Amino acid sequence: MPKAFTRDEVRTMMAVFDTVIPSMSVEELLKRAPGLAEEVDIDVVADYAAEVPSKVPGVREELQSLLAAHLAPEKIAELKTVLGLMRGYFGSLALTGSFTPFESQPIAVREKQLLSWKTSVIPTYRKIYDSLVKLGIALYLRNSATVRKVMRYDPKPVPLAESYFGFEFLTVSQAAEGRWDAIIVGSGSGGGVAAKAMAEAGMRVLVIEKGAHYDHSQTYDEPWALEHMYECGVLRATEDGSVGLVAGSVFGGGSTVNWAASLQAPAAVREGWAKEFGLPYFASPQFQADMDYVCAVMGVCAPTHNVQNQMLLEGARRMGYTRADVPQNAGGAPHGCGHNCANGCVSGGKKGGVHAWLADAARAGARFVRANVRRIDFAGRAAVGVTVLHDGRETSLPAPRVIVAGGSIHSPALLLRSRVRNPRIGASIYLHPTNYVYGVFKEDTHPTEGQILTSVVSEFANLTPGGYGPRIETGIMQPVVSMSLLPWAGGAEHKGRLARHSHMLGLIVITRDKDCGRVKLDAHGEPAVHYSVSATDAGNIQTGTVGAAAMLRALGAQEIIVCGRGVPSWKDGDDWDTWTELVRTTRPASYGSAHQMASNRMSARPADGACDPDGALYGVSGVWVADASVLPTSSGVNPMVTSMAVAHKVARGVVEGWQAGTEGARGSAKL
Ligand SMILES: Cc1cc2nc3c(=O)[nH]c(=O)nc-3n(C[C@H](O)[C@H](O)[C@H](O)COP(=O)(O)OP(=O)(O)OC[C@H]3O[C@@H](n4cnc5c(N)ncnc54)[C@H](O)[C@@H]3O)c2cc1C
Repeated sequence: MPKAFTRDEVRTMMAVFDTVIPSMSVEELLKRAPGLAEEVDIDVVADYAAEVPSKVPGVREELQSLLAAHLAPEKIAELKTVLGLMRGYFGSLALTGSFTPFESQPIAVREKQLLSWKTSVIPTYRKIYDSLVKLGIALYLRNSATVRKVMRYDPKPVPLAESYFGFEFLTVSQAAEGRWDAIIVGSGSGGGVAAKAMAEAGMRVLVIEKGAHYDHSQTYDEPWALEHMYECGVLRATEDGSVGLVAGSVFGGGSTVNWAASLQAPAAVREGWAKEFGLPYFASPQFQADMDYVCAVMGVCAPTHNVQNQMLLEGARRMGYTRADVPQNAGGAPHGCGHNCANGCVSGGKKGGVHAWLADAARAGARFVRANVRRIDFAGRAAVGVTVLHDGRETSLPAPRVIVAGGSIHSPALLLRSRVRNPRIGASIYLHPTNYVYGVFKEDTHPTEGQILTSVVSEFANLTPGGYGPRIETGIMQPVVSMSLLPWAGGAEHKGRLARHSHMLGLIVITRDKDCGRVKLDAHGEPAVHYSVSATDAGNIQTGTVGAAAMLRALGAQEIIVCGRGVPSWKDGDDWDTWTELVRTTRPASYGSAHQMASNRMSARPADGACDPDGALYGVSGVWVADASVLPTSSGVNPMVTSMAVAHKVARGVVEGWQAGTEGARGSAKL
């Protein structure tokens, strides 16, 4: 693969990375991470204190390969321009106020420079800060064995699934020769449910998935999983760079990498969808029955709480906040694979696509192929199949029905590429913008043991009438994801904080967003998510952050770290009211999203939605949407169960039409 960056550009980036994670004395490190010398071998402590990213094997190589594979050429060009400016005299003057290039400055000056970009009023400087600093931290965490030792992150081997279904995949040419009643695009939460329902009804079903299937012959670790099982190696973000977009891109989609939380849509959301979009289904017993059905298939059961979740529940109790257990799709018997659910859950304990829906679909005769669907093909306004790209070649796969289940980022992109004339496609993406709040405790918090997310605090879920506001849950604490989101406040301070990982409780403030964005196509025909967190939603997150911090304080945290841009951490003894007021009034530097929804929303009125109440796409016939993109708005709770229930309803309609032979003209007259 050609290298994305020249040696000079890499040198400049290494100068940034070595400022972000600098070399320091052992004494300085121990001052910032008291107790470390008693917990970790002193030689490891010394290695960690001295280590800088530029000397960690793998960082330079991954910098080239990761960005080349996952960043659009224009984004790489943007980064190269910045790096060029940082190296040249006049560019340096513009960026730093000095003719001396960034990499030739002493480290203290470089650090000051990065901190000033972090809080600059000029968005370009903030963007430079966000991209370079986060990249440096992420690459370091992905590659350093030493930092893992310091974190005492040594995951035990996970027992492999006893019964593992041996999926077989067709080649693209074999798939092109097959005769299919329906093609399903995407094997994620929605696609898996639809595949099972349709195959079990006797339809000839082909599921096309662009991500790979990994058998469980080894335990996959976090850096490997992030690179191979996630959309764009987790480098995808909204166009303004403010929300990192995390989604599965693997056989089973999000259900393969998600955290097993299996909540059902709350009453306010169901009633709102029924009234606002003319969709009585959501207020009906049938919707409840569909949610109960998907939970039964996955063996959704009561959880066992790990230390992190016990702490969250106790913090909520001490504050008098509303709280609840979160059931798990764990096949009737809770499992605790040590956060490996996010790496594909090789224990098989989590019953997502691979261990439930897709296996059942395969047993009923569904077939699978790995390929990227580029467009749906039409004869007039009737779907006649899809065109896929594989190994650089396009191939047509004919079918009279296409079920779109590529997730809320890709499904609208596929429909837009297919030139369907329907202005609501992609018009309303919701993201559940999320932030971490970290509490640092004297005692060990066993951050990566047991199940990830088994409790929820819903005290702030209705800050804006209609059921909009944040829920507070425990977040994944695997090193790369959890510590990449830890705000940077200077090199030495950050290195000290990373060393406190095993004493942290990581909470996520996850907000039901009232306002939405839009999915469009970029110049390469790929999805571009245009979304900025609105003032209402940001305010709700900030209020939720104060609530999360209050629980951490009630639990006895020594330090509380939040993501507000430029907000210092709270340390035991600091004035609480002054600090919480700052948190409440400061927007976070950035957000994450693992819940993309509603970009092809369902509505009884074509003016309001891309799909009709059966999930059939307005404006054409033979196309249905059966993934989280068909939800009317954000679901409030973690959306897997809700999306699966809707996918089941959509598939039921497709099956009924197929059985009755009546679905031919569906949707075409309605736009
Ligand atoms: C890290 C993480 C943790 C989560 N935790 C939870 C949780 O605990 N509980 C919960 O309720 N929800 C959780 N979610 C969210 C939940 O998993 C998603 O909302 C759900 O999986 C969305 O289902 P979907 O069918 O819309 O899309 P996905 O499950 O994302 O599936 C879409 C699939 O389509 C494929 N695809 C896309 N375009 C194409 C194309 N053109 N050709 C071929 N294939 C294509 C993709 O590769 C992907 O595999 C989590 C998500 C993530 C990422």
